Amino acid sequence: MAIIGIDLGTTNSLVSVWENGHAVLIPNRFGSCLTPSVVAEAAGEICVGAPAKEKRLTEPENSAALFKRYMGLEAQAPLGDKWYSPQELSAMILRQLKRDAQEYLGEPVEEAIISVPAYFNDEQRFVTRQAGVLAGLKVERLINEPSAAALACRSLNGDEDETFLVIDFGGGTLDVSVVECFDQVIEILAVSGDNRLGGEEFDKRIARHFCREHQIEYGLLEPKQQQMLLKSAELCKRQMTEKSAALMEWTGPDGKKGLILTAEDMVRISAPLLKRMEEIVHKALRDVSMTAEDIDKVVLVGGTCRMPVIRQYIRHFMGAEPVMVKNPDEVVALGVGTYAGIKERREDIKDIVLTDICPFTLGIGVRDDSSGELIMSPVIERNCILPFSHEEEFWPVSKTQTHVAVRIYQGEAMYCKKNLFLGKIDIAVPEGSEEHRKVTVRFTYDINGILEVEAANEAGQKARKLIVNSQIRMSEKELERKIEQIKNLKYMSRDEEWNTLVLARGERLYEECLGEDRRVVAANTQWLRTVMKGKNPAAVRAARKQVERIFEYLEEKLGIDEETIGEET
Ligand code: ADP
Ligand code: MG
Repeated sequence: MAIIGIDLGTTNSLVSVWENGHAVLIPNRFGSCLTPSVVAEAAGEICVGAPAKEKRLTEPENSAALFKRYMGLEAQAPLGDKWYSPQELSAMILRQLKRDAQEYLGEPVEEAIISVPAYFNDEQRFVTRQAGVLAGLKVERLINEPSAAALACRSLNGDEDETFLVIDFGGGTLDVSVVECFDQVIEILAVSGDNRLGGEEFDKRIARHFCREHQIEYGLLEPKQQQMLLKSAELCKRQMTEKSAALMEWTGPDGKKGLILTAEDMVRISAPLLKRMEEIVHKALRDVSMTAEDIDKVVLVGGTCRMPVIRQYIRHFMGAEPVMVKNPDEVVALGVGTYAGIKERREDIKDIVLTDICPFTLGIGVRDDSSGELIMSPVIERNCILPFSHEEEFWPVSKTQTHVAVRIYQGEAMYCKKNLFLGKIDIAVPEGSEEHRKVTVRFTYDINGILEVEAANEAGQKARKLIVNSQIRMSEKELERKIEQIKNLKYMSRDEEWNTLVLARGERLYEECLGEDRRVVAANTQWLRTVMKGKNPAAVRAARKQVERIFEYLEEKLGIDEETIGEET
């Protein structure tokens, strides 16, 4: 049975499989390899991907997107009249990808490898796995996105040693990693990033530029209008990857407005974001005491890397031409698919060892006499390669103390209050000389990203703690109940999804068009609805095709080209 590889992205998700000596992407039911990571609800039914993304434009309140950002947190998003956790929403996406894969392969799929950002902590990895379980997938292993990218970019059987700088610029985040490949080992040396810097930030800045030029107060627009404005901005941004100028259009409360954006405008609009990107790259390089010269290949990953300004800027500060495959948003998925091939023990591919790193500093709080504050005393520093174990010695602050409370923190700040508190261990300190009162603290961070902290005193007593956030962990019973719940949600059928997609597209087009075009949209939408009431599947399909053609024509007229939606076959 095949193992599938999944890139569960913030904006788009992809699924791949190892076939005939290479990784191939599996198209979804709409014929595209990119499934937008969006979930929507309509009349008690769930839809995923392109129709959900389309619905988000006209009914933002009935959809959920960008939930990868909240993985591992106790956040919930409303969908219809229910609330869902990020892992439940992710499970809905995974379930869809699994189905698409099954349809493509013509056999059941049970096992998957999922990629996660290198900086994901144990909790985030745990809930990603859990999302897999909820979707009925066995997730044997998670792979770091930059390792997957390096794996995809590396000539598969070549043993050449290379150091990569992987710049993954997605929809909502920027992740930069230094990855070293030697023999059959892929090792991440450093990671750095910003989870508030992605393609969306460019859309927002373009939208704000548009508003400034037309004296519109962005903040005063209704959420729906903001969504439409952002969509126009994104479209304009995409057009600029091939053209040196593009027309951005948007219909607001007082009619249609347009603005021509040139390449120079783009440079000006993007400048602060590019600067931030450069700093993040330098941080990753600094962490491993490297400079641009130590890098053999700069690999561009993620849809945002398609922007020419980004490539130019990287070329400028790295002093070398970055490597970009034709579709940078597919690289990670291809790497995960390759790894799936390795895990299947296929003969046409050599085994490879992937190492993980601890992306943040772990330490304990030590009271500072001068300020009375707890100061971070690192035990494991960021970027160390896993598994890793290290011990440090500490002494109680006061002579009268009979216990020491070892407070464990994660983060880079000097003051503990700015870092994440992970837990506490109490250990007795026997009376006696200074040497007798020593406490040894050992941190062990294993390959699965689980931290074990052990504190020992000189009397030979030990206290141990595994750091897990119990609030997110579910009991077996609860997990089973959730699996059933996700399985029993009413999902739209393939036909219903297509109908939803076309109807939502009609609603959005209605808002974008004016005059006669608008009447055409309304008449066609209503006609399709009427045919749907007849419940004759063949008639609905025929009508839908016809309506789609008309919408396509109108979109072309508006200059919209839907990249994530393929052709209905
Ligand atoms: P993620 O890893 O976050 O799921 P992707 O790698 O799929 O995201 O990238 C999505 C981002 O790429 C979006 O912000 C989208 O606007 C941007 N993008 C896709 N195609 C282009 C293009 N041709 N030009 C500019 N940006 C693009
Ligand atoms: Mg990505």
